[in-house]
Amino acid sequence: MHDLIIIGAGPAGLTSALYAGRSRLNILVLEKMSVGGRILMSEIIENYPGFVGSALTQELMQRMEEQVKSLGVKIEADEVLDLDCQTHSIKTAANTYSAKAIIIAVGARPKKLGCPGEDKLIGKGVSYCATCDGPFYKEKEVMVVGGGDAVAEEAIYLTRFAKKVNIIHRRNEMRASLILQERLKENKKINFVLSSIVTEISGTNKVEGVKVKDVNTQKERIISCDGVFIYIGNVPETAFVKNKLKLDEAGFIITEPDMATGVEGIFAAGDCRKKTLYQVVTACGDGAIAADSAYKYIASKG
Ligand code: NAP
Repeated sequence: MHDLIIIGAGPAGLTSALYAGRSRLNILVLEKMSVGGRILMSEIIENYPGFVGSALTQELMQRMEEQVKSLGVKIEADEVLDLDCQTHSIKTAANTYSAKAIIIAVGARPKKLGCPGEDKLIGKGVSYCATCDGPFYKEKEVMVVGGGDAVAEEAIYLTRFAKKVNIIHRRNEMRASLILQERLKENKKINFVLSSIVTEISGTNKVEGVKVKDVNTQKERIISCDGVFIYIGNVPETAFVKNKLKLDEAGFIITEPDMATGVEGIFAAGDCRKKTLYQVVTACGDGAIAADSAYKYIASKG
């Protein structure tokens, strides 16, 4: 029996572990993939306070991990398959764990377009991670789909390799922050395909092109390309708490301001919870609050 189990070792989970570790709780962190979380899919972060210009995400997350480990917190590689919210019992493929309190900081995975060809060509030109796959596209032409900060940051990153980067967005204006939009417009390798949606990704063994529909004229055309990078938002990794915690229609966990989920001793933090701003800095803030609330909950139980 641990005092606290934190599910997920991204910015929210690691910050929870930092605060709870400093409160001298007996903590276990469970992470199914890489310690650091999905932010590692971006090479740099420009809006984490204290780093003029930008910080390397890998270095930032390594520092968070070291800080947590220096407090004696254990981080295990294990995937949570089930959580009994009443008994606080957690099942993974090989283990059962339990704790007085639990913080769910599982983050979110990239949302798919859902068009024909997408699933078949994942890893063969369809990607959700420019940092991982960008270097394969030297002097090639790629599409990036979406209109938010992620698409803007990753399109700029891809211009280091690709000869042309087309941003396909369903509306005629982006929602990315203005500083990023300015940089997109200045970059000669970037081309905008606005008011357009991707209706199909084509190719036999690798991506050869995308079918794009203009939403105003309904006309479709095919644009040849070598890769398609998709950044159209995120889906929370909360299937294991469906029908156990209050979720919104998209699956994000609904919390109180103190990160309580409405079920005793279960808290949520970071990109898996419903909120208005999904950023590393807000994930860290959530993590600190969740740890403080978990500490108070455990203390109240004696
Ligand atoms: P986002 O900000 O939610 O933007 C998603 C974009 O995809 C929107 O432009 C949306 O169009 C479009 N879209 C959604 N569904 C679509 C569909 N089915 N087909 C075509 N287009 C679709 O998501 P994001 O840019 O992927 O970023 C994900 C989250 O990470 C965001 O919350 C963002 O703030 C965060 N982020 C944080 C950092 C950081 O902390 N430094 C960096 C990058 C991203 P509409 O505009 O028409 O709705």
